[in-house]
Amino acid sequence: MSVINPNSIRQGDRRAMAKAITLVESTHPEKLDQGQTLLEELLPDTGKSLRIGITGVPGVGKSTFIEAFGMRLIEAGHQVAVLAVDPSSPITGGSILGDKTRMQQLSSHPQAFVRPSPSSGVLGGVARKTREIMLLCEAAGYDVIIVETVGVGQSETMVASMADLFLVLMLPNAGDELQGIKKGILELAALIVINKADGDQKTLAQRAVREYRNALQLLKPTRASWKAKVLQCSALEQTGLVELWEVMQDFREMLKTSGEWEEHRSHQAVRWMWSLIDEELRQSFRKHSQIQADIPRVEKAIRQGKQLPTRAARSLLDVWFSSKIPGK
Ligand code: GDP
Repeated sequence: MSVINPNSIRQGDRRAMAKAITLVESTHPEKLDQGQTLLEELLPDTGKSLRIGITGVPGVGKSTFIEAFGMRLIEAGHQVAVLAVDPSSPITGGSILGDKTRMQQLSSHPQAFVRPSPSSGVLGGVARKTREIMLLCEAAGYDVIIVETVGVGQSETMVASMADLFLVLMLPNAGDELQGIKKGILELAALIVINKADGDQKTLAQRAVREYRNALQLLKPTRASWKAKVLQCSALEQTGLVELWEVMQDFREMLKTSGEWEEHRSHQAVRWMWSLIDEELRQSFRKHSQIQADIPRVEKAIRQGKQLPTRAARSLLDVWFSSKIPGK
C-alpha cells in the first residue's frame, strides 16, 4: 500500500497531488520508492490524455499561447495540466519558465494544474520527474497535458520523447534562419504554429506559413499517417485556436486509426526505460571510487594528446567491469 491514498489522486485532490509530486521528486530512496509504489497503483488510470509538447524561443509567446489555448480547452470542458521542462534551472538555480506571473488565469483555475519545472538534477532527472508527474496528472483526470520547454539544448528532444504531439511555436518574421530552431526539431514537429499573426504582422505570418510549408516538403515525415502541418494563430487576439484544436483532434484520430498512436507510446515507454538505465549506469560509473580517482589524470592525458580516447575509455571500463563481474 502506498502512503498516499491512490483514490485521493484519482479524485484530483490537490494536496494529495502535491504530496505525490514531492515523493516523485525526492532524492531520498525510501520516499522515491513510495512514489514508485503509488505510480504503479495508478498506472491503469494513466495514458488517457493527449500529451502535447510545446517549444519555441523565449518571446515567441509560449505562456500567452498556453494561457489562451488552455482557457479555451477548459471552457470546452477539458482539464488541462501544464508542466515545464526548463533546462536553465539546474544550472543557474533560476528559471526561464518558472516565473509565477506566467499564466495567471490558468494557474488559479480549478480545472487546471500548472507546475513549474523540477528544479534539481541533470536534464535526464528533470525529464524523469516530468514524465512521472504527467502520469499523476493523468490519473487525476487531466485529459490534456501540455509539456512546455524553451528551445535550449537537448530539452526539446526530451519533451518530444514524452509527447504524442510536438508543436513548435514560431514568430512571423521567420526568414531562412529558422529562428535558431534546429532542423532536427522541425523534424520532430507534428505541428508548426506561427504565432502573433495579428496587426501588421499578419502578412508576414502568411508568408511564414508558406515558407515553412515549403521547408517541410523537403523533410521526410516521421509518422506514416501524419504529415506535419503549418498553421497560424494569435495568442493575444485568440484567433486560430479553435482551428488548431480541431487539427489536434484529427491528429489523434488518424494516428489511433492507423495504430501508430499505441505503437508510438509503447516505443516511448521502452525508450524511457533505456534512458533510465543509461542514466543510472553513467552515474554509478562516475561514482566508482577508483574511476573517480583516475578521471582527472586520464582526462589530462587526453587533453595533452598523450592518450587515445578509445584506449582511455577501455581502461576505465575495464576497471568498472572487473569490479562488477567477479573473474572478468
Ligand atoms: P514566452 O517567452 O515564449 O513565454 O513568450 P510570452 O508569452 O511571455 O510573450 C512574449 C511577448 O509577446 C509578450 O509581450 C506577449 O504579450 C507577446 N505576445 C504573445 N503572443 C502574442 C500574439 O499572438 N500577438 C502579439 N502581437 N503579441 C504576442
